[in-house]
Amino acid sequence: MLSLAQQRAAMVERQLQARGIVDEHVLAAMGEVPREVFVPERLREFAYEDGPLPIGEEQTISQPYIVALMIEAAGVAPGDRVLEVGAGSGYAAAVISRIASEVFAVERHPTLVESARKRLFDLGYQNVTLIAGDGSGGLPDQALFDAILVAACGFAVPDPLKQQLAIGGRLVLPVARAGQQSLLCLRRIGEAEWSEHDLGHVRFVPLIGGHGP
Ligand code: SAH
Repeated sequence: MLSLAQQRAAMVERQLQARGIVDEHVLAAMGEVPREVFVPERLREFAYEDGPLPIGEEQTISQPYIVALMIEAAGVAPGDRVLEVGAGSGYAAAVISRIASEVFAVERHPTLVESARKRLFDLGYQNVTLIAGDGSGGLPDQALFDAILVAACGFAVPDPLKQQLAIGGRLVLPVARAGQQSLLCLRRIGEAEWSEHDLGHVRFVPLIGGHGP
């Protein structure tokens, strides 16, 4: 039986590197953050399985590969200020916090916010601010961000999120189009100019809020 630390190392190798994740910061952060702390106690033994897991309130912690893919695509780097919408268990925010200098993470379920806050506090990850509420309009008071990641799926790219990106910054989010969810990466290349590319099909829970569906 492998220890959780050994399972984490195997996850990085078999689920991330084997699928093409190359960013050293992402690989190191995913190798460091104990995913088992972010899943319900009874599911701990499955913490390093290759899929999402339930976290309560009908929500899920994303598959490790998707977390890595999104952070790599967002180009999160040391020194960055990052916004995550849909903090859920707090796992992705924790991983981002091991790379970036400051993370703001918004979650609409207060109970999830409370448990995520406690986990981050217990781990001593002090550069994450968790905020309860609707994050579909971003966090205008804290903008601009070097990267914005959205872990829930709407029908369009919320305009406020595009506006809250620093020039050169990237926004990674799932968007439902033609009955499927596509993971998009937008890069702000000018005051009113964004490039966009599609990273492939994904499955996320719905984005619920004023700038969502
Ligand atoms: N990143 C999370 C995955 C959470 S699943 C993790 O690592 O565990 C997506 C989350 O988005 C859910 O918890 C859901 O409640 C939340 N969500 C959906 N719409 C939202 C909105 N408008 N603002 C903030 N959170 C939202």
